[in-house]
Amino acid sequence: MRNKLTEVVAAKGIKDSKVLAAIKKIPRHLFMDSSFEDHAYQDKAFPIAADQTISQPYTVAFQTELLDVSPGDKILEIGTGSGYQTAVLLEMGAAVYSIERQKELFKKTNIFLPKLGYRPKRLIFGDGYKGLPNEAPFDGIIVTAGAPFVPKPLLAQLKVGGKLVIPVGQNEQVMTLFTRTSEKEFEKKELGQFRFVPLLGDKN
Ligand code: SAM
Repeated sequence: MRNKLTEVVAAKGIKDSKVLAAIKKIPRHLFMDSSFEDHAYQDKAFPIAADQTISQPYTVAFQTELLDVSPGDKILEIGTGSGYQTAVLLEMGAAVYSIERQKELFKKTNIFLPKLGYRPKRLIFGDGYKGLPNEAPFDGIIVTAGAPFVPKPLLAQLKVGGKLVIPVGQNEQVMTLFTRTSEKEFEKKELGQFRFVPLLGDKN
């Protein structure tokens, strides 16, 4: 079933062999509530705890491909959720820092990932809008919830040459890739429409 899912994701245009190998290897059914387990290898998002979702595998693959991860890269993820995206990044050899704002999910995933042998550098319970200044700069930052605007701290925490992959918008989001080309300059590319749960702010 994992082979089939990998083929579906590849057929939709994902070419990075390391991303595809990660999808082939990771037991997605273990990241989901048992009531949805039978559907784990469909290319669909599903509900997880705290009214959140595990993203569609194609979306995970698309964002990860844009990040262009090399082994040893220092990556910050905003929105740990089920930990599936974290696992994809770890399979690719990244050093992963991940922030989750829902305590229930943070606690669950913090226990669950090491049980499967996945060891992020740090999982943090906190607000992803602020990034992680103490650990910056990062080779890449990936935001896995829909951001109403681009948080300035995330751009500031990129290395020169680093990439921020962020879905931006209210109801629908435009997948946006920022590459830091110098201390003061960023190149911006827009790469199609997606639909995410919202990146939660102070008031929600
Ligand atoms: N990467 C996740 C996965 O693979 O399961 C996707 C999870 S879901 C699409 C987005 C996650 O972002 C949710 O778990 C949500 O609680 C989290 N989130 C929302 N607002 C946040 C914020 N301000 N800071 C950190 N995490 C946030």
